[in-house]
Amino acid sequence: MGSELVYEGVNGAISGIVPDVSVVVPIHNEVESLPLLLEAIASTLSSSEISYEIICVDDGSTDGSGKFLKEEAQKRSDLKAVILRRNYGQTAAMAAGFHYALGKAIVSLDADLQNDPADIPMLLTKLDEGYDLVSGWRQKRQDGAVNRLLPSKIANWLIRRTTSVNIHDYGCSLKAYRAELLADMNLYGELHRFLPALAYIEGARITEMPVRHHARRFGRSKYGIWRTFRVLMDLLTILFMKKFLTRPMHVFGLLGLISMISGTLIGIYLTFIKLALGEMIGNRPLLILAVLLLVTGVQLFCFGLLAELLMRTYHESQGRPIYRVREVVAKKVN
Ligand code: UDP
Ligand code: MG
Repeated sequence: MGSELVYEGVNGAISGIVPDVSVVVPIHNEVESLPLLLEAIASTLSSSEISYEIICVDDGSTDGSGKFLKEEAQKRSDLKAVILRRNYGQTAAMAAGFHYALGKAIVSLDADLQNDPADIPMLLTKLDEGYDLVSGWRQKRQDGAVNRLLPSKIANWLIRRTTSVNIHDYGCSLKAYRAELLADMNLYGELHRFLPALAYIEGARITEMPVRHHARRFGRSKYGIWRTFRVLMDLLTILFMKKFLTRPMHVFGLLGLISMISGTLIGIYLTFIKLALGEMIGNRPLLILAVLLLVTGVQLFCFGLLAELLMRTYHESQGRPIYRVREVVAKKVN
């Protein structure tokens, strides 16, 4: 009788059966691809006897993708449609999908058929070898050379150098995760491409596997060259999170200290030449530098202390421990 499906995922009350895998797909205006995509996922997984659910998140599409998904979800039991109120961006759409996922493993992939659902069983097998995250590597990537491949090469190199997660292709959406890992992680901004780096901060075991990649058949890419700059900003955030999330005073305190000490030394020098040698110091640029260094130093110091307070609020208010336990082993006493 067309009753509404009540459905809560990893972060809420669990109802329904737990499938082997939840396939999460963010969708923004991909209506032509959807029938082929659903068919490809369903046929791969049912032929390898993996129990699954597909969670399609409509991220404010205006081409009827949402309507199509709602109709399909009424007809078939392997599909859940999550319709967002407006366009929030790929990261938010993925986060929404993860929220409603019930599977033991979660696979994310793009809706545009650039990722190949036939690769999913292979990623799941790898996950079973004991990894928490298996990332796809588009070895033969089918995208424009100048506007996509070059920026992506540079970005990948930078991310690899700075995050200590040694994989080739951060931008590949086709990834498999153990569900517990995602339950621990919060996504913001456009951080989905940094999921491996964030997972690394959470202590995850990460690996990669070459996957297929196809040229876009329908519609257009939602991104242009400006994405590169956002990725760079996100990279800075991640770097900071990785190094100093639990000890901000170590960064700001140190910088503040260096600044204050240099300011003080210059000040002492100026005092010396004023008092001992009787020279004028009022017109010296060095004086301005000394004052600037002192003021900046004090500010950095205070900022570090504030950051320490914020960090404590962040961890304690959400009950987030500063560590992650992989497993606890203890001998049973009857
Ligand atoms: N996407 C989305 N919301 C957005 C932009 C993109 O859900 O605001 C989805 C899009 O429908 C696709 C995936 O994210 O399934 C990747 O987008 P796209 O193919 O445009 O990126 P590219 O493959 O060109 O990097
Ligand atoms: Mg694409």
